[in-house]
Amino acid sequence: MQVTFYGVRGSIASPGPDTVRYGGNTPCLRVDNGSDEIIILDAGTGIRRLGDELAGDHRPIYLLLSHQHWDHIQGFPFFKPAYRGSSEIFVVCFNCESHENLSLTQQFSDPFFPVPASALPSNIHLLDEEGIRDVNFQGTIVTTAPLNHPGGGSAYFFRSGGKSLAYMTDNELFPPNEPPTSYEEWVERCHGLDCLIHDASYTDEEIETRIGWGHSSIGQALQLGLDAGVKLLVLFHHEPDRTDDQLDEIVAECQEKVGDSMKVIAAREGETLTL
Ligand SMILES: [Zn+2]
Ligand SMILES: [Zn+2]
Repeated sequence: MQVTFYGVRGSIASPGPDTVRYGGNTPCLRVDNGSDEIIILDAGTGIRRLGDELAGDHRPIYLLLSHQHWDHIQGFPFFKPAYRGSSEIFVVCFNCESHENLSLTQQFSDPFFPVPASALPSNIHLLDEEGIRDVNFQGTIVTTAPLNHPGGGSAYFFRSGGKSLAYMTDNELFPPNEPPTSYEEWVERCHGLDCLIHDASYTDEEIETRIGWGHSSIGQALQLGLDAGVKLLVLFHHEPDRTDDQLDEIVAECQEKVGDSMKVIAAREGETLTL
C-alpha cells in the first residue's frame, strides 16, 4: 500500500518561499494498493495536480472526504476528471444524505464559481460510510470513526496485505466537550498501526488558546502515536504560518523525544510512503 501527499497544509493554501519544501496546498492524498479504483482522501487545493496526473486514467474514483470545511473541498472545481463525461466519481462524506448538502458540488454556484454543478459532465454519486465496506478495493478493508471536530467528520482506516494506515485530520484529541470518539477509543483504533497520519496543527503552546477549534497539538499527536504503539507517525495539517525550517525543528525534537520507539515525520507534498 502506498500513500502520496498532494496537499498537507491546514486551513488555507500558503505558497511562498517559507513553505516550498513541505508544500502549501491544502489536504489531498492518494492511497494506492493496486486496485481497480482510484482512492483519494480530501479535495483540498492539492487535488488539482492529482487530477492532472489522472488525465489518461479512466478508473472509477472514490473520493473520501474527512469533512466539508473549505480547505478540504476547495480544489474540486479544478479537478479535471470532474469535467470528463467518462468519469464515475463516488463521494463518501459525513452527514451527506443528498446532493443538496454536498458542499463539494454546492460550491459550483454563484457567486463562488462560474460553472454550475449541473453542467459537469462527470457522474458524481454519493456513497455512505456503510457503502464503502461493500467496495472490494483489491481486498482492502476501509472503516471509519467519527472525528472530534466542529460539524463532525470521519477518520478513515485502511487494512491491506497485512499493512494498516489511518487518516485522522481535523481531530481534537482532547476537546472540551463530550467527544464522539474518546481518547481511549482512538488508542484502541490506532493500536499497532503501520502508519498514522494525524492532525498536528498547533504547537503545545498555541493550542492553549485554541481549545475547541477541532485540532490537536504536535505533542498530543505524539502521545497518541506512542500510546497506540504506532510504527510511523506523520504530522499533518500544518499551520499556514509554519515554515519549512520550523517543521524540520519540530520533527527533530519529536524524534529525539520518542527515540527508537516510533518514527516521526512531517507530511510533505509530493512524497510517497510505501508501507
Ligand atoms: Zn482542515
Ligand atoms: Zn475542519
